[in-house]
Amino acid sequence: MLNIVLFGPPGSGKGTQAVMLKEKYSLFHISTGDIFRREIKGKTELGLEVTGYLDKGLLVPDEVTFKVLATEIRNNMDKIGNGILFDGYPRTTPQAEIMDKFFDERGTPVSMVLSLLVHDEEVVKRILQRGKTSGRSDDNDESIVRERLRVYKEQTLPLADYYRGQGKYVELNGEGSIEEIFGRLCAEIDKVK
Ligand code: ADP
Repeated sequence: MLNIVLFGPPGSGKGTQAVMLKEKYSLFHISTGDIFRREIKGKTELGLEVTGYLDKGLLVPDEVTFKVLATEIRNNMDKIGNGILFDGYPRTTPQAEIMDKFFDERGTPVSMVLSLLVHDEEVVKRILQRGKTSGRSDDNDESIVRERLRVYKEQTLPLADYYRGQGKYVELNGEGSIEEIFGRLCAEIDKVK
């Protein structure tokens, strides 16, 4: 099983690349952000619980997020044969620790963490551009975009060292054309396959 974590700041292209990678390697794609947005749209109890966090550019609490991930996995066991492509999870050290425990116990640990490096100003530019058509309120407001970037650096970036310590962390240039970046990601995945 190939369990791949796509890592990088908001707007680094994880979602775009995930759609292409899941096809090529027949992986099951899990985007916690997409799940939260789906729940918000459906006005479910979970949606109501998390909407304030997304609107402010803050992280949803770890317990809620892990429960969502575990449910998504449990509901899709039949589709996970080749592995999972994680997009937007984990975003904190406790999330990574609980994920490791969950997958190590099942004998299917995280295979690699692919980190897309993109400069701050490029990220802000991309997200504001996306905001014109995405319908995501957190993409429209520059102060919220910058808050997401701040939260990323404070709470998510420390995970780079966590995965470096496990020898699983690979950094890639996340700037260039979508095809160029896809090629870089595939080259790394093909090394471990
Ligand atoms: P982006 O990568 O552009 O920030 P996402 O779709 O990955 O967009 O996430 C959108 C929002 O969903 C985040 O700002 C956060 O509020 C919430 N979220 C997504 N994944 C997680 C997670 N693993 N832990 C906590 N909150 C999350």
